[in-house]
Amino acid sequence: LISSIHGDQQVERVTVRRVDLSWRALPGTEKTFDVDAVCLGFGLLPSTELARLAGCELRWVDRSAAWLPVLDDEFSSTIHGLAVAGDGAGVAGAIAAAEQGRIAAVAAARDLGHLLPGEAERHQRKSRRKLRRLERFRVAVDALYAPRPGLFELATADTVVCRCEDVTAGSIGEEIASGIQDIETLKFWTRVTMGPCQGRMCLPSIVARLSSHRGCSPEWVRLPRPRTPAKPLPLNCLNESMDGN
Ligand SMILES: Cc1cc2nc3c(=O)[nH]c(=O)nc-3n(C[C@H](O)[C@H](O)[C@H](O)COP(=O)(O)OP(=O)(O)OC[C@H]3O[C@@H](n4cnc5c(N)ncnc54)[C@H](O)[C@@H]3O)c2cc1C
Repeated sequence: LISSIHGDQQVERVTVRRVDLSWRALPGTEKTFDVDAVCLGFGLLPSTELARLAGCELRWVDRSAAWLPVLDDEFSSTIHGLAVAGDGAGVAGAIAAAEQGRIAAVAAARDLGHLLPGEAERHQRKSRRKLRRLERFRVAVDALYAPRPGLFELATADTVVCRCEDVTAGSIGEEIASGIQDIETLKFWTRVTMGPCQGRMCLPSIVARLSSHRGCSPEWVRLPRPRTPAKPLPLNCLNESMDGN
């Protein structure tokens, strides 16, 4: 694992360490390399903003280390008439996304009276078979990628956790130590998750800090309320939509 990145005006060196199964660094295994750039990738985070904005219920899934919408086997969410398929339901790849969408679409056609239940079931069967096969791949990907506790423990007091609002692990740690137990209150005091990325980058790290301090599973840390727009928009998009078109 890359355990630290060094540099003054730009990245100059990285230190890597061997880690245990929790991704905790093993002492005496450091190696430092001169580098020009660093590319990091940890876990596959589903974009659940639209589902959250719509009021769908989400649940914490340990295996993916993420909150995913609660869905039935036709990808219907807890909001009547709203299905969630594809990456927003949990990242499982392009083929799985299409098959999930197909199952949800067939269910919608049946519910609208365009397909008989038997026809719908027949259409869905092939997709379900494919999904069962792909599920094995998804479990393997989750097992490899989902971040483990040691990753979040690498941060030092001056590590920037919320990059949009420039909030360090030290400031977040102080607020949590002073008794803050939830993300909404942490937002008021530190502005974490309030920048353009709306927590897409920093939320997992903040949740890990809160849950570790409280000694609870991340599922007990309530997600912050989502806000529109779900993703940052250039202002000229708003201009166009105000043209009356
Ligand atoms: C770099 C990279 C490499 C990948 N490689 C592979 C691979 O090799 N094999 C594989 O199986 N999978 C791969 N994937 C994953 C795969 O791309 C996704 O799992 C798949 O595209 C998910 O399909 P989707 O329809 O759920 O989402 P997407 O394909 O992301 O489609 C979502 C669509 O919704 C639109 N949208 C988003 N927000 C809004 C909004 N607010 N309003 C309106 N529209 C919106 C987007 O513009 C987009 O067109 C890769 C992904 C990435 C990023």
